[in-house]
Amino acid sequence: MKLDAHWMPFTANKTFKQDPILMESSSGMHVTTEAGQTMIDMTAGLWCTNLGHSRERVAKAMYESAKTLGYVSSFNLGHRASFELAERLTDLSPGNLNHVFFSNSGSEAIDTALKIAMAYHAAKGQSGRKMFIARERAYHGVNLGGTAVGGLVNNTRNFGRWGTVAHLPHTLDHANNAFSRGLPKIGAEKAQALADLIALHGAENIAAVMVEPIAGAGGVLPPPVGYLKELRKICDEHDILLIFDEVVTGFGRTGSFTASIEFDVVPDIYTSAKGLTSGAVPMGATFCKDFIYDAVVNSVEGIEFWHGYTYSAHPIACAAAIACLDIYEEESLFTRVNEGIGDYFEEALHSLNDLPHVIDIRNYGLLGAIEFQPQSDGLPMGSRVYKKAMEKGVMVRGAGDSIILSPPLIIERSHIDEFVEKTRLAAAEIA
Ligand code: PMP
Repeated sequence: MKLDAHWMPFTANKTFKQDPILMESSSGMHVTTEAGQTMIDMTAGLWCTNLGHSRERVAKAMYESAKTLGYVSSFNLGHRASFELAERLTDLSPGNLNHVFFSNSGSEAIDTALKIAMAYHAAKGQSGRKMFIARERAYHGVNLGGTAVGGLVNNTRNFGRWGTVAHLPHTLDHANNAFSRGLPKIGAEKAQALADLIALHGAENIAAVMVEPIAGAGGVLPPPVGYLKELRKICDEHDILLIFDEVVTGFGRTGSFTASIEFDVVPDIYTSAKGLTSGAVPMGATFCKDFIYDAVVNSVEGIEFWHGYTYSAHPIACAAAIACLDIYEEESLFTRVNEGIGDYFEEALHSLNDLPHVIDIRNYGLLGAIEFQPQSDGLPMGSRVYKKAMEKGVMVRGAGDSIILSPPLIIERSHIDEFVEKTRLAAAEIA
């Protein structure tokens, strides 16, 4: 096989191709390599296979759609599934987030959100509002807008930042909040930095503030109690839109349909992807409130928003998402975290606090991170544990000196026990 033909994303291509790991199949909580090793997947792929891997019902829905209406442009044409899906999703969303724009990934959902925010202000006669405020350690995908608002320096290394963006501090506080369970009790005052940035840059220049309610790829950072409410309050004072990136936190990950419901803070716009189709096929979605849709869509005749993708509302993706919604609802997965499994996961994770080099453990819902002391040889502990854990038969995600967990929502206690046992073995070998 000519491995160099495929330039792999976010991968050390040369290293990977010396000893490639090829996956062959996946089912439920497990993935299996070509070499025949089966691993328990504590990452839900890339935070996406919330319903577990390779659900037959979703596959069948996609097949039926593919052979009936394999493709339809959504520019000036429609098909029933997209409207049915939009109605169900907006019914589930909080407040009056009653409109959804479909795309094909989290990154596209993010750039769509940024454009909607600018289009909204322009429609209100404030086209000067083009700046965004985001947060250190944020991950908002990899398109140019998302790269600009992102707060992980590696993702800007080849490209810099396009657009005008300022960043709030992240909320990680090892000195005061290490081993916090759920939401850190202190740190809400960090939201005050938003008022300072607004004073510095001028509200009349700022379109929106974008944050992940729980920062994911930045290391699973649950917000301090009251932090998101404070951001909401400050945005309202200055007519700045508040955007939640719920690409990871949506679809039951926290114990509610969205983190905005979980934390009782309603943004003006929110993004989704991943769990939307449980990873079966690419799809992204950007939701907005009535006042935004009304301002943009009712402001001009003809096309109101010059934006869209060839595959927006793709019929196969819509069919997959509808089948997923049926499963989420039938299996009560949006709130399953609250039925004991979330507490069990929390206890299990914190039982690992005696592993060598552990300096922090964070969690919320079915999201968790174990952070290790950086080692003097500079090799990130995340990738070290990731590799060892794989040998033991458990898939975790390495991120810097942390490992990140975001298992499928169908996880059972026995899977969590297996994860703990195998991670202990892996960590002991590394020590
Ligand atoms: N936002 C967040 C919070 C994410 O975690 C991700 C992906 N990990 C994205 C956006 C981008 O999604 P995608 O990779 O589907 O473009």
